[in-house]
Formats: sequence, C-alpha cells, structure tokens
Amino acid sequence: MIFKSKYPDIKIPQAGIYQYVTSNPNKIPDEKVIYVDGVTGRSYTFGEFKHETKKFAAGLQDKLEFKRGDVLAIFSPNQVDYPIVLLGTIAAGGKVTTANPIYETTKLSYQLIDSGASVLIVHPEILEAAIEASIDAKIPASRVLLFGDKEIKGYKPYCSVLINDRVIEPIYYTPEEAKSTTAYFLYSSGTTGKRKGVEITHTNMVVRLAQENSMECNLGPHSIIMAVLPLCNVWGSIILHKILMLGATAIIHSNFSVEMICESIQTFKINRIYTTPPIILNLVNDPSAQQFDLSSVDKIICGGAPLSDQSERTFYNIFKIPISRGYGLTETGGIATFPDTMKKVPGSVGILFPNIKAKILSDDCHELGCNEPGELWIHGPNIMKSYLNNKVATDAAIDKDGFFNTGDIVYVDEQGNYFIVDRNKEIIKGLGLYHVVPSELESILLTHAAVSDAAVIGYYSEKDATELPTAYVTIKNGYKQSRALAEEIQSFVDEKVLSYKRLRGGILFIDRIPKTASGKILRRLLKESLKNDMKK
Ligand code: AMP
Repeated sequence: MIFKSKYPDIKIPQAGIYQYVTSNPNKIPDEKVIYVDGVTGRSYTFGEFKHETKKFAAGLQDKLEFKRGDVLAIFSPNQVDYPIVLLGTIAAGGKVTTANPIYETTKLSYQLIDSGASVLIVHPEILEAAIEASIDAKIPASRVLLFGDKEIKGYKPYCSVLINDRVIEPIYYTPEEAKSTTAYFLYSSGTTGKRKGVEITHTNMVVRLAQENSMECNLGPHSIIMAVLPLCNVWGSIILHKILMLGATAIIHSNFSVEMICESIQTFKINRIYTTPPIILNLVNDPSAQQFDLSSVDKIICGGAPLSDQSERTFYNIFKIPISRGYGLTETGGIATFPDTMKKVPGSVGILFPNIKAKILSDDCHELGCNEPGELWIHGPNIMKSYLNNKVATDAAIDKDGFFNTGDIVYVDEQGNYFIVDRNKEIIKGLGLYHVVPSELESILLTHAAVSDAAVIGYYSEKDATELPTAYVTIKNGYKQSRALAEEIQSFVDEKVLSYKRLRGGILFIDRIPKTASGKILRRLLKESLKNDMKK
C-alpha cells in the first residue's frame, strides 16, 4: 500500500535557493536584523546579508577564479558569518560542503577529496586539522581562508578576497537547472558504514522550505529562533534558510550548555528552538534551568533521535513548553514527518509533509498496510538527487520508482501518524546528531590483545535520551572475563576516538558473535540480547 500525505500538494517553487530565500514573501525591510551571534552580539540585517553575500560571491569569482559548479567547504562551529559564506557561495553559482567542526584531519581530508572542494573556509580554532587536510586534498594555502579578520600562520581571513564594495548579481537558475543542480553535499553514513556526500539540489532545498512554511503557522517576522544545532547538519542549515523566508531573527550559538541555552532564551526572548533529545534531558535534569525565565518559548521542535512520551511529559510539567517531534534524514533534506498542529498523537513523529508518499516494506519486500511495522521508504521532491560519486550506494538506496530507503522500522496508523519502532541500518546516533559507524569501533577492538571478535551496537538509554555505543566481545584463550578486563578494553578504545563515539554503554562478554553464513553480524539478535543483559 502506498501512503500519501494528508495535506494537499503544494506548488513546487521554480527557483534556485538564493532567489527563493531572498524573495522576501513577508516584505521585511532591509533594516530588519536577521542573524545575531548569541555570544558576541554581532549581527546582520537583511540588507547587509544580501550585500555581503553578493560581495563574497564577487570576491570568489574575481580573486579565486571560482566558477559556477565549483565546490567550497566550510569547516567551522556555528557563528554569525557562516550564512554569509554559505549563501555567498550559492550566489556565485557554487556548491557547498559543510564539515563537522569536531572532525579530525582524516575525516576532513576524506570529505574535501570526495566532494572535490577547491576552497576551504575554516574557523581559526580548528586551523591545525584544516591545514593538514587541505594538504591531503591538494588545496593550496592561498585557497584556505579564515573566519574572522586576522591572518594566522600565513592563512588570510576570507575578507581578504573581498574587493571594496564590488558585488555581483547572484547566478540565476532556470527551473530545470534548479532541479538538477546540486547545491549542498552534506555527509552522512546512510544505511551502511562509509560516509557519503548526500547531494541536495536547489529544488530539494526550496521544497523543504516551502513544505515547512505551509505547515508551521505561528512563525513570521516576529519570531526569534535559536540556531544551536550544528549548521553543518541538514537541520541547522534549514534553519538558516528558513529565517530568510520568514524574515525572522536567528540567534546563532555553537554551545549546547544548559546555562547558555537558558541565558540566551531569557536575554533574546526566544520563541522557537530546534533541538535533539539529549538537550531536552539536560534541561530536565539540571535544576539551574528552572532559575531562568523561559516563558517566551512557545514550542520546541525535537528530532534526530527518539524521545519518549515520559521525557516529553516531564519536560512539559516543569517548563510548560510543548514539544513537537519531527522525523527525517539528511537524504530527505531533514524533516519528512511532523505532527499535525491541531492533533498531536502520543508516541508519534507526526504525519507526512505535503508532496511526500511512503511505503512500508516487510523483510521479504512486500508492501504492508496500517499498523504493520516494516522498513520505511519515502518518495517526494525533497529526496536527495544521489550519493556523490557512488552509483552503487545510490541504486541501493533509491528504487526504480524513486522511493528512498530510510533504513528505519516504522508503522503508520489509520490516521496517517508515523511511529518509529527501530532502526534496521547499522549506524548508531550519538547525541542524536552524529553517526557512529560500528565497524570503525569494531576494528579498533580487534587490535586489543585479548579480543578475538567484536560487534558494536547502540543501546538506547532513557536516562541520557540517546544511544550509547556498546560492544559485545569474545576473548582469546588465556584471558579471563572480568570487570577489570572489560574496563581495560573500554579505555583502550575510548582513548582513540572522539567523545561521542566512546563505548559509553560498556563492554559485554559473549561466547560467540552471532553471524549469518556469509559472516554478517546479526545485530538485531544482539540488540535483543542487549535488552536482557542491561536488565541484569
Ligand atoms: P541523519 O541523516 O543524521 O539526520 O539521521 C537520520 C536518522 O536519525 C533516521 O534514519 C533515524 O534513524 C534517526 N531519527 C531521526 N529523527 C528521529 C526521531 N524523531 N525518532 C527516532 N529516530 C530518528
């Protein structure tokens, strides 16, 4: 059975991203402040934004000979100049790839090489990793530019490419070009391990903005929205664009701490926050949050990972702020389901956005009906074009009818409400945001002298509202299972990986890792065992 959105289809905007986000449907004046740095207070008005992005586009073309179709990479935590570089590149006809600022050199090198980036804009605090990666990717130092206004170690600030007040007219895209031209390469693991460049076209992005616009009625030029999700992530990026469409104001932060979030809400009278479940839990668990006046917030949009009804209720009882849970993937341009504003259903991640169709398949690929859990496939104009340079992965992810395999197990009720049951794919999501690839941790575990085999899965902790990477290991003859050995193996891995990948669920011993005849780890079986093991 094919499930359709309950909403009437919206008209697909026929424009490139830059034209669309500067079309100013709410007729805001150029003096309206739209982006504010939550820490420094530095800001851009709508008029300044348009001027600065066109100036950056001119500088890219004139000083760096940046051409239509060239790729620029941004490697930076959130800050107020981020949207200038992002949309300035789009205005120049370029494509942007946004790298996670917590990446170490190897991950950044991979992304720079895979995306074909020829310019890198980097935050000074993470310049070291960027220098090494740019050498790997053969990007000359003259094309590695810094946020801020200082030259460091011979690397110039990006304003050095700006030429007085020279601006260019943003590149215009015909409807056909908007449909076929990639604007963003956002990196994701998809349903299997290796990171891939998710190609988001101009049309994908404008459709996503139009879908949200058609559903969220309380937002407008009066809205003050917190942009705390990493801007390298699809959700973070959507917020930057959405602000322009609404003529609202974004308060941009790079830091997730409870104190920062609460202080910012109180100071800027923020009405809307987009966030992930662990942040909701942090607010619940930190009594200091209750000292602040958070009454300006009318709603929190939460997604990226499961949030239980219980956590949502506890949050509401303390703060009296409703939460709406959305669901989606990088490949769907972020949110694909969102609760009906009139009828919220407990446990559900909402109904399909306009123009989206879905099917739910059984293990043997039969289309299922209502209330039958299976793998969710989504179809719509928001679905990515492809995985960059990876036809095999694209063909595996998108079927001949254009349905994209989410790798999530869901069911839908008769009213069209979606419920996430489980994840069929290998990835684990740390902090509701970052992909942890089990095979990476497994290969480290296998280098420990005592480990003969290993499998890593995610354990969903209600307490932390996130999945914790947890390892099952079998040990070699001559070693004894003990708490001390488990701790030693855990620290052996943890000291080699970034914090969100640490084995916070711990190490469990098992006699044999269950596998298929072809050697594939039966992760679903292990997940079942884990539920019992964690109860002990
Ligand atoms: P990403 O592409 O990094 O945004 O990750 C997408 C994945 O996050 C989905 O395939 C789901 O497994 C998970 N996810 C996103 N939103 C939710 C949600 N509301 N509840 C449960 N899992 C979610």
